[in-house]
Amino acid sequence: MSVLERYPEYEVVIGIEVHVQLTTKSKIFCTCANEISKEPNTNICQICAGHPGVLPVLNKQVIDYAIAAGLATNCKIRTHSTFARKHYFYPDLPKGYQITQSEDPICYDGHVTINTEDGKTKKIRLIRIHMEEDAGKNIHSEHSNESFVDLNRAGTPLLEMVTHPDISSAFEAREYLKTLRTIVQYLGICSGNMEEGAFRGDTNISVRKKGEKKLGTKCELKNINSFKFISDAIEYEIERQIELIESGQKVRQETRLWDTKNKKTIVMRSKEEAADYRYFEDPDLPLIHLEDAYIAAIREKLPELPHATFERLCKQYALTAYEADILVGDKEVTAYFENAYHFYASKQIINWILRDVLGYLKESKDTINTFKVTPEKLATIIKLLETGKINNHAAKQVFEVVAQTGKNPEDVVKEQGLEQVGSVQELEAIIKEIIEANPQSVADYKAGKERLFGFFVGQAMQKTKGKGSPQVIQDLLKKYLK
Ligand SMILES: [Zn+2]
Repeated sequence: MSVLERYPEYEVVIGIEVHVQLTTKSKIFCTCANEISKEPNTNICQICAGHPGVLPVLNKQVIDYAIAAGLATNCKIRTHSTFARKHYFYPDLPKGYQITQSEDPICYDGHVTINTEDGKTKKIRLIRIHMEEDAGKNIHSEHSNESFVDLNRAGTPLLEMVTHPDISSAFEAREYLKTLRTIVQYLGICSGNMEEGAFRGDTNISVRKKGEKKLGTKCELKNINSFKFISDAIEYEIERQIELIESGQKVRQETRLWDTKNKKTIVMRSKEEAADYRYFEDPDLPLIHLEDAYIAAIREKLPELPHATFERLCKQYALTAYEADILVGDKEVTAYFENAYHFYASKQIINWILRDVLGYLKESKDTINTFKVTPEKLATIIKLLETGKINNHAAKQVFEVVAQTGKNPEDVVKEQGLEQVGSVQELEAIIKEIIEANPQSVADYKAGKERLFGFFVGQAMQKTKGKGSPQVIQDLLKKYLK
């Protein structure tokens, strides 16, 4: 039973800010490569390390990616916008300010459509999308009382995407994040890797009694790096806040973290007073002026987006919503499916992908791009099965071998002697033998002991070393046991 079912008089109000790390070639204001380097402070220059007197130069690709993100989330694109300085002190921010956007973000007033728990859809409105630079990282030693600063991440381009407080459950929060992540992945502007922090959501949560107009005091959940943890943390937080109110206490405005080990949220810092960042327009960067034709050209080049892919998969391949939804969750799995189908158009392809391919990848922690059962090889295995060259049992065996070795399915079938003992005459002889050898069982079966049928099938499979076609065996048994 969820928390809200136990406290039906309450409702929860959630807004989410997502930081999307862009996969541009270089950083946002300098020519340093935009990549994660292992050795600290090796991928920096005077600009991203914040030396005084240097001049940032805007990376045009960041603008293009921001516009693409805005168009894909139904935002309006602002034709005139600026960068601003957000002042705060932190060791990983040597300039003393972060370059971001303030009053005039490049995209505003959008929405993302999500699926809700009752099978309907809901629009989550976006307030804004703005561009900004990431800060470096502070590293606190586990062995000594020291801290270090690594600036490799400083200047990494980010989009911050902010929703209205339209989200009303942990389920919806998770759906929103999943949907948004697939959108940026389909656009090719973000890896979506949550563990590496390339896609990270900060969630603002408050609760209130139904019917109340005023929002409750909100807490912010920060730095949660998996969908599972996010929904667990939100569920926990809803319960914590309701129980505080029920016991006559007050929710305090604070930033909280998810403790994965103890499965609870813990205080990171209190947020009683709003910080004054003294924003002002960055005089070192030009005003951004976008021509309508420029925006239109980016719209022209937008790839097929997850929602459109979903509809197409359902229609073109007659997939169920459930099947299409799983595929759409990963652009590469969708491509794998379509490629396999291209080699051999079978209804079985989707079942094999959902069950065997995804199952194997989960177990082996392999990725679909390096998976040794290529779409063509999967299609071949299914074709061998459907044309009766091998049976289901053998097909699974071939799949395993190909997954481990990358060999050709046909070669595996030959090497391991997995061809079905196929001809009806061969199987007929075997069936006759079994019937002759087991007169008592035959009599019992005919007298009504129907479960003995399985015994006969088992005998036949044994005699064919598992290579007989189960269908043919069953048909023959039915014929001879009449
Ligand atoms: Zn740099």
